[in-house]
Amino acid sequence: MPHHVGENEAMKFLSICILCVLTLWGCRSQGTLTPFEEWEQEKGKIRVLSTTAMIEDLVKKVGGERISSLTLIVGEIDPHSYELVKGDNEKFNLAQVVFYNGLGLEHGASLRCQLKEHKVAVSLGELLLKKDPEHILYTDNQVDPHIWMDISLWKEGIDPIVEALASVDPDGASFYVSNGERLKQEMQQEHEHIYQKLQSIPQEKRYIVTSHDAFNYFTRAYLATPEEVKNGGWQKRFDAPEGLAPEGQLSVSHIQKVIAHLMRYDIHRVFPESNVSQDSLKKVVDACRQKGFKVTIEKEGLYGDSMGPAGSGAETYLGMINHDASVLKRSWE
Ligand SMILES: [Zn+2]
Repeated sequence: MPHHVGENEAMKFLSICILCVLTLWGCRSQGTLTPFEEWEQEKGKIRVLSTTAMIEDLVKKVGGERISSLTLIVGEIDPHSYELVKGDNEKFNLAQVVFYNGLGLEHGASLRCQLKEHKVAVSLGELLLKKDPEHILYTDNQVDPHIWMDISLWKEGIDPIVEALASVDPDGASFYVSNGERLKQEMQQEHEHIYQKLQSIPQEKRYIVTSHDAFNYFTRAYLATPEEVKNGGWQKRFDAPEGLAPEGQLSVSHIQKVIAHLMRYDIHRVFPESNVSQDSLKKVVDACRQKGFKVTIEKEGLYGDSMGPAGSGAETYLGMINHDASVLKRSWE
């Protein structure tokens, strides 16, 4: 009877709905955990929190399967000005070890406060400053925090990571040491590879202008001639309208300084950074046009303060530096 057929159909529909809900529920609890939930729920591992993805990349390679790792500042977010958001305090409470860059990078007040209070918070930058003060750069008397942009310097962060992990997990000490040694070799090889790749470009082309002062270490390591590294002359090879942290407001004098720099070294292309607004570069390009000096913004951006998205090839630390070297080489050839 039509009436019963309708009832049966309704029951069938209801069963399918219930099944769908249960299936989705199952998926939700198994497959769609947030990175934080996964990190929090993983048992028997050392819970490690890193402020930036560049740090986490090293930490994961040293810690391997003995650790559960989480990054605080993800994606394109600016690490300089990052302030804690809802749920971040819990990450600090749960982390057995925290790694951060230091040297003024994470200068958001709420984040600084947590870093200061955590029992085991290790600053890779401060330790490097203590060990090799002569390698640290300053701009206008302010320490430059972008040490990850020189692989040979960033490699120095491995020993402190090994030590800190071994201190909370002594059973894993030899595991961390051997992973660390392997990673150091890999990084040294990549450092030399990128040096060769960029040094093969004629030196009169190796001038880089980006949005903010993130490429000083990179320029000294990969673009300068050996003589310039010795005498400080490498500094002319890099300039940016914005300072050590990306700035919303730009002074006219900063823009004019960059324009003078572009004209002096006959530079006709500037490079945007993936996570920084192109506004300041556009202002520079417009002002140059008014002077009859043609400058364009390179289509492909560089990674300075953040790594690339999954699948881009620049989602690992070494992938990111390689990406930048390739973009520069392609642009200059
Ligand atoms: Zn920066």
